[in-house]
Amino acid sequence: MNEREARARVRRAGIELVESGLVDGTWGNLSVRLDGGLMAITPSGRDYRALRDEDIVLVDIGTGEARGGKPSTETPLHRAVYAARPEVGAVVHTHSASASTVAAARREVPPLLDDFAQVVGPSLRVADYALPGTARMAKGVLKALGGRMAALLANHGAVALGRDMDEALLCARMAEKGCRVFIEAEFLGGAAALRPVEAWAMHQVYLRKYSKMKGAAPEARPEGESPAGGGNTAPGGDGTSR
Ligand SMILES: [Zn+2]
Repeated sequence: MNEREARARVRRAGIELVESGLVDGTWGNLSVRLDGGLMAITPSGRDYRALRDEDIVLVDIGTGEARGGKPSTETPLHRAVYAARPEVGAVVHTHSASASTVAAARREVPPLLDDFAQVVGPSLRVADYALPGTARMAKGVLKALGGRMAALLANHGAVALGRDMDEALLCARMAEKGCRVFIEAEFLGGAAALRPVEAWAMHQVYLRKYSKMKGAAPEARPEGESPAGGGNTAPGGDGTSR
């Protein structure tokens, strides 16, 4: 993806995010990876609907150097994800309602639905609380992700990944739906989860299918990830921790 395409995709995705009801006002941020070790990210504190392509800021993933304006304050989180997860091509951070509720309760969302397991992975874990925009927050999110495509940020919101922007937006919607269903199922007497091993298997099948649909080669998962044993690289990720 070149610079022009990346700016246009981020600007359009911002509008899609507002229209899907996942963000209000200027909260949240999103980015895509482009050629040359760069990412294109939404600027700090601007209304998505008023953005022009040229307002999207380019940031060097390695050095953090920004070109063309002031990038989102959550830039360290986006940079950390791209550096740690080479298969990721887009990152969406939202403060959506149900994800924020579960993040405030600091509860891990189990795999309750097939579509959630396929897109997000075997669960949605909560990163330890850290101040927004800090390296500590970015580190906590990487640990909570543990190879998954989304995580919650304690008392803050959610982050969703994708190999492209379409997939990251789908993942953000799926994480929000998973949180809503979890809250409601708990009210109905308790959420009954799928088995983690089956959830991982569904996630792997989805990843391969989506790659084929997009005409790309199947993506490699991070080392140490496998459906057996829950597939977690981070400690405490057995599907039962909070
Ligand atoms: Zn935020």
